Amino acid sequence: MTQSIPKDAAARRAVAPVICYPVETLPQPDLALYLRARTDLQKTSEVLVPPREAATFHVPAGHFFRISSYEGSQVGDLNLWNANELNERFYSGKTRALHGTHITTGQQMWSSFPYLRPMATITHDTLDWYGIDDFGGAVHDVIGTRCDPYTHHLLKGGQYHHCCHSNLTRALAAHLDVPLSEAEPHVHDVLNVFMCTGFTRDTGQYFMKASPVRPGDYLEFVAEIDLLGALSACPGGDCSSEHSSDTAECHPLLVEVFEPSESFLSDRQASLPNGYDRSHGT
Ligand SMILES: [Zn+2]
Repeated sequence: MTQSIPKDAAARRAVAPVICYPVETLPQPDLALYLRARTDLQKTSEVLVPPREAATFHVPAGHFFRISSYEGSQVGDLNLWNANELNERFYSGKTRALHGTHITTGQQMWSSFPYLRPMATITHDTLDWYGIDDFGGAVHDVIGTRCDPYTHHLLKGGQYHHCCHSNLTRALAAHLDVPLSEAEPHVHDVLNVFMCTGFTRDTGQYFMKASPVRPGDYLEFVAEIDLLGALSACPGGDCSSEHSSDTAECHPLLVEVFEPSESFLSDRQASLPNGYDRSHGT
């Protein structure tokens, strides 16, 4: 039996939305301080992430890291953990609830409960000019999950091993020197660096389109806590067609880590765990 449409359907639909999480009271990073600090950085390490693979990197609190397009258009799937406590990890869903579907300069990557604190703040985004295109697409999303072999198997069958989920799992297992089964539960929903995505207006489906990123573009962060990061160079390449096969043209991604001045390290405010008392009413 089809549901009848109520007489006041139009009126119910016409109710204006309210923002779920108004951010007027959200503590803001000292962006002016960060922007001054980024003009005085010394590179301390770098790793080139091979296509269809992932690599890990460490960023001490207060240091900067930069993810750059290298050789060709390529998107990356980023995981972040507290380097000293892997159970504290990037919380894509809450970051989305606070900042919206895509993030850029001045916005932050938040960590999981019970910590819920900034893990990293974006200090520069060479793609911030892109905005929201006519399809509703934008860059650097926190709406996707990460391409994974389980969804691929569900939809197409077969065993594909170079999805970002598997790349991140292998890289983390190698870094921790633990079996894959021990590393895999730590892999989580990502920041889709350089990926251009949105939801279709007619069906509400998650879409991707060719990334506008070009070699030399980069996304730069300051680490708010000691970070272990893992970045996968997605098998989707620029994500213009598909992402769970060896079909797309893929390129490496460069991760560089930079040390700021001593004065910045002493001036910056530490990112502290959330102040909720965790009694949950008992
Ligand atoms: Zn991927």
